[in-house]
Amino acid sequence: MTKLLPVVEKFHSLQGEGFHCGKSAFFIRLAGCEVGCPWCDTKHSWDSKKYPLISIEALLSEIKEARLEGASFIVLTGGEPLQHNLDELCEIIKNRTETTKLNPVKIHIETSGVNDFSGFFDWITLSPKRHNPPQDFFLEKCNEVKIIINDTNDIEFARNIKNKIFDIKKHSKNEKKFFVQPAWNSNRGYKLAIEFAKRNPDWTLSLQTHKYLSIQ
Ligand code: SF4
Repeated sequence: MTKLLPVVEKFHSLQGEGFHCGKSAFFIRLAGCEVGCPWCDTKHSWDSKKYPLISIEALLSEIKEARLEGASFIVLTGGEPLQHNLDELCEIIKNRTETTKLNPVKIHIETSGVNDFSGFFDWITLSPKRHNPPQDFFLEKCNEVKIIINDTNDIEFARNIKNKIFDIKKHSKNEKKFFVQPAWNSNRGYKLAIEFAKRNPDWTLSLQTHKYLSIQ
């Protein structure tokens, strides 16, 4: 029997945010998060004991099905997915989704970067939190950075995170993507993020388009 993971929900939809916005993906929302963001829009996912434990085998068959229906990658999200060791999940997905016609399915993860790293990913979205900053490892390895904007301190935090990444990566080419995303329903967050993106073209505005479209 493969490892069991607590799963809040799993569904095939479009990625609503960030660099891959608008692309077909299969989402697995793992339960459990101790980061405690006051404005969290998935608070229901925090307590992992409330959710069924699902085997990796069962997840794999749904991933394969979603792929046949068009999902071009999977997104591990939460909660904070790295509260769980993801080595076995990633290994099985990679080893068992390759066919004569298709390469192994790509795996994306969305993380706050506070837990130890496990698994292997084709795309890492780091969404660092001001009250619980990420480990340097994630600043170095992430492909995109997404800062949630609620108030002016978040703008300052966005600048600091980017500077820290450039300090860490100063000797190599930095190809990361940088996004500011207003917290949902935060008028102040919208104004600040829009103004910041206008004045700082190396940052891009990200919106939770799935919420505007009323899709998952
Ligand atoms: Fe919510 Fe994500 Fe913050 Fe956890 S890290 S509290 S899931 S916003």
